[in-house]
Amino acid sequence: MSSTSSPSPSLLSDNNNSNNNNRNNDNYDVIDFNSMDLEWKHTENTNSDNVRAVQMASECRLILSGGVDTTAILDAASTLNIIFDVAITCVIGDTSPDELYAKYAAYKHSTHIKKHIIVQMTHDTLIDIYLPKTIQTLEVWDGMTIRNSLVIAAAFEEASKQNLTDVLVGDGADELFGGYTFTWGKPKMCPIEWKNKRDTMCKQWTFATSALAKSYGLSAHGPYMDQELMVDWALNETHRIDCIRDDTPLIQLLLGQPYAHHTTGKVLLREAFTTGSSWRRKDPIEVGSGATIIGKDIYYNNPNGTTPKHLCITDEEFEIAQQELKEKENIIIPSKEYLTNIRLYQKIFGGFIHSTKTRYPKNDIQGCIGCCFEIGNATFCKLCGSYPAQHNSNITPYISK
Ligand SMILES: [Zn+2]
Repeated sequence: MSSTSSPSPSLLSDNNNSNNNNRNNDNYDVIDFNSMDLEWKHTENTNSDNVRAVQMASECRLILSGGVDTTAILDAASTLNIIFDVAITCVIGDTSPDELYAKYAAYKHSTHIKKHIIVQMTHDTLIDIYLPKTIQTLEVWDGMTIRNSLVIAAAFEEASKQNLTDVLVGDGADELFGGYTFTWGKPKMCPIEWKNKRDTMCKQWTFATSALAKSYGLSAHGPYMDQELMVDWALNETHRIDCIRDDTPLIQLLLGQPYAHHTTGKVLLREAFTTGSSWRRKDPIEVGSGATIIGKDIYYNNPNGTTPKHLCITDEEFEIAQQELKEKENIIIPSKEYLTNIRLYQKIFGGFIHSTKTRYPKNDIQGCIGCCFEIGNATFCKLCGSYPAQHNSNITPYISK
């Protein structure tokens, strides 16, 4: 990216349809969004008593593109006249909600993005090309982590092909501003309790992005992770009332589709940057990109005859492997996706070996309940996805899917 000047930040409006996309180097046909009669809910959703939005837009210099968070970065960067050489969006299969939102964001900011690349591939290509390297880089087999990381890896490989050295990502916004459903809490909960939980989560956060970027020769930068400008400000100044709005906001699942009332997080971010994605539902990377089906057993059952033979796993084969892993290795695998991941993990590392983690015998409380690798004080095992990962926890057992 390059910056030509730094004018005072100001808000952009998606109601301004005068912007024409005249670039000719995108790798897809230009969509005439003007003719789509798109409907926005910025006015209905914006709380006029809330001054946080304006503060956020003026105090924090953000930068990039995609869902609520990355589109806000792109919007902020545009106000600073920062021009991106390339914006990259990954679309897996043919039902990605990200695709149209990302194209719209690129369309609206066509003067600030030189080239928008849609990286499109099938689910089996995503697995075949990116799964081995992702497991090798991250040393995990947890399904949720892997699914999201595969999509990031595909984007990073494209960035590498484009000879980029630095990329901007949206990591951190969900943690800081209550993006995840499980961080919303209840309307009448103690605000201090919500803030304490949020602050603790943010002080312990780790992201797979840096390691993945490094594996493709890139440096990843996260504007929401800037300690002084963003993290310290957010933890000191924002509370549940700024981040979560219960029941009333009008939220959209797909661009051009109807809105419905729903509780949502990241309200101050949605209000601060009035983009086409501002009142879109928060989708995890795997959902937004369309990769989710690889986490479901049905994909490995080859229901439509489209799953390649080498990725198919019959129910009988899975049950036998599941039983063997439990009896011989004390490892719990909840799905066929995990079996795929764990087989590759064993092949890459020569068994259940980790570069930094010790593996303990069954029932040793130093080990994770799902994989026996050392767990320390963590409640979630990043390696196998067990939650709770502690032997003596009274939380209902769960393994992320
Ligand atoms: Zn584990």
